[in-house]
Amino acid sequence: IWSYGSGYGGNALLGKKCFALRIASNMARDEGWMAEHMLILKVENPEGQANYVAAAFPSACGKTNFAMLIPPAEMKGWKVTTIGDDIAWLKPGADGRLYAINPEAGFFGVAPGTSYDSNPSAMDTCKKDTIFTNVALTEDGDVWWEGMTKQAPAKLTDWTGKEWTPDCGRVSSHANSRFTAPARNCPCIDKDWENPAGVPISAIIFGGRRPTTMPLVFQSWNWSHGVYLGATMGSEMTAAAAGTIGQVRRDPMAMLPFTGYNVGDYFAHWLSMSKLAKNPPQIFHVNWFRKTAEGKWMWPGYGDNTRVLKWIVDRVNGKVAAKESPIGWVPFTKDIDISGMKDFDAAKLEAALAINLDEWKKEMVGVEEHFVKLYTSLPKELVYQKELLTSRL
Ligand code: GDP
Ligand code: MN
Repeated sequence: IWSYGSGYGGNALLGKKCFALRIASNMARDEGWMAEHMLILKVENPEGQANYVAAAFPSACGKTNFAMLIPPAEMKGWKVTTIGDDIAWLKPGADGRLYAINPEAGFFGVAPGTSYDSNPSAMDTCKKDTIFTNVALTEDGDVWWEGMTKQAPAKLTDWTGKEWTPDCGRVSSHANSRFTAPARNCPCIDKDWENPAGVPISAIIFGGRRPTTMPLVFQSWNWSHGVYLGATMGSEMTAAAAGTIGQVRRDPMAMLPFTGYNVGDYFAHWLSMSKLAKNPPQIFHVNWFRKTAEGKWMWPGYGDNTRVLKWIVDRVNGKVAAKESPIGWVPFTKDIDISGMKDFDAAKLEAALAINLDEWKKEMVGVEEHFVKLYTSLPKELVYQKELLTSRL
């Protein structure tokens, strides 16, 4: 495996993105399976019923956090364990379902911001047997990075080897500094994480950073519509280049930098998977990052995402009805359990779930531009899905 000309973190471990996604996606197309940028988790309800879920969010959009989800105290009996936090290989089984394995041995996480507050399981995972790169060293030979503790140590050696103090005006660790830790150290690792047969996936979730437009959660009508959701997903630009604010950077299936072949052919492969797997997972779209007009998160996220996950598995298990909307199946407000949430109520939930037609009209123009760029190889099925959505809107 060769990779060159890039300081991108994932290229430091060639078995990761370079093999397990780029090369594997090509092998998967040829052999009738899928290599995807997805976490895999198991969620158990209070009755002990287990469902396995895979989710594709672009880099820095919450895969590792969601894979190691800790349900809020009010959700007694709900349990989440981790099979993988970044890559899934999905193969059709004899029963027509898609079975997922995690092809990785461990976790390769961005260090800054990781703390016992933000992700305790990740912190416990890197207590031992871990390689740290470009973080700071403490005087007693331990590691430290921005956000690990509220108070910084009085003195450190920074990632470049220079002396560092809290008032020196520089950060101690590179923004892309990493920990590389074995998954077996993770306190919430699932017992089947190395099962070569994989785990049967009930739901696939897509999502990105969308300050506007995308509601907290909705469900696709069917497999083709779900593939359309993955093909058009993305994140809105917040800063950077002038004139890009509000524009969506499309990142199909979170695979933009990782698809090993023509992206139109990749969509066609996705569409064809429902013929190889006669009983494919249900497909959902989530958005943890919608904002109010004042720029505040509409949904608190993290552990509270269990409440959305509950609706998803309740849908999959046929336990809850849903409302038809132009964009897909959406929850009845009463079916998302918000009991015990601080500073949150049904009105706020309704705002997070709302479908704003003006925003969706802009969205369709954005999708049109995205599809024009891919037109020569774009499966017509996706153009058809776009036309159906436009007419429903
Ligand atoms: P990954 O690169 O996809 O694995 O993403 P991470 O799980 O490492 O998270 C990336 C960033 O998103 C971190 O700064 C997290 O704190 C933040 N994040 C993760 N989940 C949520 C959430 O539910 N809501 C909000 N607002 N931020 C989140
Ligand atoms: Mn991650």
